[in-house]
Amino acid sequence: MGKIINYSKSKVKSKKNITRISIIENNNITLRLFFDEKSIDKNMRYIEKAPSHIKLPFLNEHGLCKNCGEENGWCHNRKIYTVNGLQIKKCGYAFIFTNPKIKYVMDYVDILMEFYAKKLKK
Ligand SMILES: [Zn+2]
Repeated sequence: MGKIINYSKSKVKSKKNITRISIIENNNITLRLFFDEKSIDKNMRYIEKAPSHIKLPFLNEHGLCKNCGEENGWCHNRKIYTVNGLQIKKCGYAFIFTNPKIKYVMDYVDILMEFYAKKLKK
């Protein structure tokens, strides 16, 4: 395992992680963002308009749910959402940006603001 840096929201009771930056053995850096199904639905218009490097983890194969929990009646942490008219089911390690680019850093901040900062204001 490599190095893992977690960030969580401050001043809230639940110390729920919202991002995780991992530097994995083969020197790949991954930025993992945590979104729940409800907030994905709420922010779908934002996602659909986002630049492709931001949109990619919502569309790619990474973390796709293969009905893995069906035998047990429940797939842990499954998210079902519709992006560009396409229904996607993900579970487990979803929304991973591999080797995030420094030039896109404001885009990563922006999507976090969209999902989390707005919610905090309410
Ligand atoms: Zn699953």
